[in-house]
Amino acid sequence: MNKNNVKKSEQLGMPFGTACGRLRKMVLFDLVQKLKLDKCFQCGVKIVDIENFSIEHKVVWLNNDSNLFWDLDNIAFSHRSCNSSAARKSTIKAKGEATGLAKLTDGDISIIRNSEKSLHKLARNFGVSRNTIRDVVRGNTWKHV
Ligand SMILES: [Zn+2]
Repeated sequence: MNKNNVKKSEQLGMPFGTACGRLRKMVLFDLVQKLKLDKCFQCGVKIVDIENFSIEHKVVWLNNDSNLFWDLDNIAFSHRSCNSSAARKSTIKAKGEATGLAKLTDGDISIIRNSEKSLHKLARNFGVSRNTIRDVVRGNTWKHV
C-alpha cells in the first residue's frame, strides 16, 4: 500500500480498497432503489437493506461462457440469503433467464413450458402473474416460441 492509501485507510478505519468497494456498493444500491430494481430475482420480495443486497448472474457463467460474466443483461439483484441458497441448489434456478421485471424472454418461455414447478412458484420466480404463466403454459401467448 502506498503512503497516501495508508493515510486514507487510517482515517477511514478500514483498508482503503474495502472502503471503495463499500462505497461503490452503496451507490449501486441507491440507484437500484431509485430505479425500482430492488426486487429480489430469486424470491420477488423487495430488498430493503444493503447488508442483504447482492448481485448475481442469472445464467451461470463459470464452466459455461465467460461472456455471460460481463453481459449486463445477465445481471440480477437478489437477497444475499436467496442468492447463496440458490447457488447451493445450483443449476435449475440458475438456468432461468428471468429478469425480475414483469417481462419475459423467449428463453423464459421454454423454461416455463418445461418446468414442473407450480404456476404460483413460476409466477414468483419470473415476477409475473399466475395468469401470465398459465397462458404461456397453455400456449395462449407466446405462440411463436
Ligand atoms: Zn430474495
